[in-house]
Amino acid sequence: PRPDRSIDVPTDSHCPYCALQCGMSLSPAGRTSVRVRPRDFPTNGGGLCQKGWTSAALLGSPARLTTPLVRSGGVLRPASWDEALGLVAGRLREIVDERGPDAVALFGGGGLTNEKAYLLGKFARVAVGTSQVDYNGRFCMSSAAAAANRAFGLDRGLPFPVTDLDGADVVLLAGANPAETMPPFLSHLRRAAEAGGLIVVDPRRTPTAERAALHLAPAPGTDLALALGILHAAVADGHLDRDYVRDRTAGFDDAWRLAAAWWPERAERVTGVAAADQRRAAALLAGASGAYVLTGRGVEQHATGVDTAGAWINLALALGLPGRPGSGWGCLTGQGNGQGGREHGQKADQLPGYRRIDDPAARAHVARVWGVHPDALPGPGRSAYELLDALGTPGGPSALLVFGSNPVVSAPHARRVADRLAALDLLVVADIVLSETALAADVVLPVTQWAEEDGTLTNLEGRVLLRRRALPPPAGARTDLEVLHGLAVRLGQPPERFPADPEAVFAELRAASAGGPADYSGVTYDRLRAGEALHWPVPAEDHPGTPRLFLDRFAHPDGLARFAAVDHTGPAEPPDAEFPLHAVTGRVLQHYQSGAQTRRVEELRAAVPEGYVEAHPDTAGRAGLADGALAAVTSRRGKVVVRVRCVDSLPADVVFLPFHFPGDQRANLLTNPALDPVSRMPEFKVCAVRLSPAREA
Ligand code: SF4
Repeated sequence: PRPDRSIDVPTDSHCPYCALQCGMSLSPAGRTSVRVRPRDFPTNGGGLCQKGWTSAALLGSPARLTTPLVRSGGVLRPASWDEALGLVAGRLREIVDERGPDAVALFGGGGLTNEKAYLLGKFARVAVGTSQVDYNGRFCMSSAAAAANRAFGLDRGLPFPVTDLDGADVVLLAGANPAETMPPFLSHLRRAAEAGGLIVVDPRRTPTAERAALHLAPAPGTDLALALGILHAAVADGHLDRDYVRDRTAGFDDAWRLAAAWWPERAERVTGVAAADQRRAAALLAGASGAYVLTGRGVEQHATGVDTAGAWINLALALGLPGRPGSGWGCLTGQGNGQGGREHGQKADQLPGYRRIDDPAARAHVARVWGVHPDALPGPGRSAYELLDALGTPGGPSALLVFGSNPVVSAPHARRVADRLAALDLLVVADIVLSETALAADVVLPVTQWAEEDGTLTNLEGRVLLRRRALPPPAGARTDLEVLHGLAVRLGQPPERFPADPEAVFAELRAASAGGPADYSGVTYDRLRAGEALHWPVPAEDHPGTPRLFLDRFAHPDGLARFAAVDHTGPAEPPDAEFPLHAVTGRVLQHYQSGAQTRRVEELRAAVPEGYVEAHPDTAGRAGLADGALAAVTSRRGKVVVRVRCVDSLPADVVFLPFHFPGDQRANLLTNPALDPVSRMPEFKVCAVRLSPAREA
């Protein structure tokens, strides 16, 4: 039992939502909640967005789950923890005995703390022995991670502190809309915006694009062609940094062989972005004393996401930006622990320390820390969508345990995913509320949330943060670590192999990460409690951390960055006569991810209570729809029924849907699960749809 430590003094903490991990101060507000105040922290400079301000609302919410639920007779009924965990462990044992360990799968999340991500991966590989573990971060920034690993030999979202952006004259944001996703981040772009140096690449005129001096609006799915056009312009107009390319990179000639064919006028024909604007973007970036290229989900969530992110990295390399003080390339990580979530082993192809699971030395090291033989560790498993798509099939898993994710809403081709979940013999969901995925579960386990537990996260700049327990959890809820501990013990593991104390798990994570690309061995809870700014790698307890990577050399063995030879192919599903419009999915200010949390916060729900489709008035008019009318948006995979919002911020052949909403408002009923061949990222950002009137109920 945990001591009842209700707070009587303000506790320094961080927001439960996005990767900016804004600093907060939490002070008492009764026994079940806290008062949130912004805290001056480098990422947010004392600001919070509406999601952060209202984040305490879920702590004492009646929507919280506090009792395990077990399905019997088709309905979920309350059960004791002992019954629920005993039932899950018993069924897992039966399924493994019958069909082998790969018949059990685990699905994690990019919001889980480092400790949870670590213990989840270890639980899968050691307690169950399955290779079938992946997480929703695969849907988030796996493409930029793969592109960065390919280019630099290492992936850390921003390889520099976010405050370095404060001094930039020019920032190009490709496929990112921080004005809605992480508003306090805009403070770091103030100088660039005021200097006329903010360039935004987005098919929509988003609130971020409205602040830009130059908004480049490529047709959906043509971002790669635009990056090639700007690279071509940079080279043709004499902006190539020849010394940097010679001394610090390899592969330019191969990349240029493809980019040479993308003169800006050709890129204009494909993307719709004026050649003059491409040249202006190249000149702005090249002429700045400090310039950055930053990418987001809009670039990544494509079946060509790795090459598209790689094309923007190529541009940054050609201009000599990465690895130079005051300039660079970076990726804006989305989920709260999007960075740490992909480092500690909940990903199908990785072991802790950002090690590859197929690397014999990595397997030997991690197996030593885990006290098992390396041969006992399974190999790589299926990626997130492939895993969900295989559930309940003859060769696929028949049991799934979900932690910190809501794939019924957030996975692509949502109808297919719901069908696969329904085909399982056992679905177990650990969550704080009855999410749409939990509603489909056989067993639901009520867990604690951010301010009720200690844990570390790694923010978008690779800085490890301690999010502290500020009040006792509701009676009946357990931490995810306690759940994994309880299941592991029931599966016959020694209790000490799966500690439930976060600091003990972190101590083991440090050892497992030691010597790996993401080395946390020098990070301690005490250093974090003292407020030290520790950006990984931190290879020793007296090491100050590494705020800036690549200043002397990149992480490939020869120290050189790699250009990628990439070419434009276009969206996997272009519009045609039957489905003549591009559908783009994305986020709104008030909601986070699948909306499981934010839809239950009254202020946020009231601001944006339901899903909608944005369309140009001409597009809506051609479909026989007026502003506010009920519309059906149909793709080859499904149909969404939502109200139309007529906007002039979209071209006539594009509609936009936020993906935070459930039921028949799920934008992911439409999305195309075409996968990037490297990152296995689905093509969330563009699919072909038609728009038509829907009947009012
Ligand atoms: Fe900050 Fe992101 Fe939380 Fe908003 S959601 S307060 S931007 S961490």
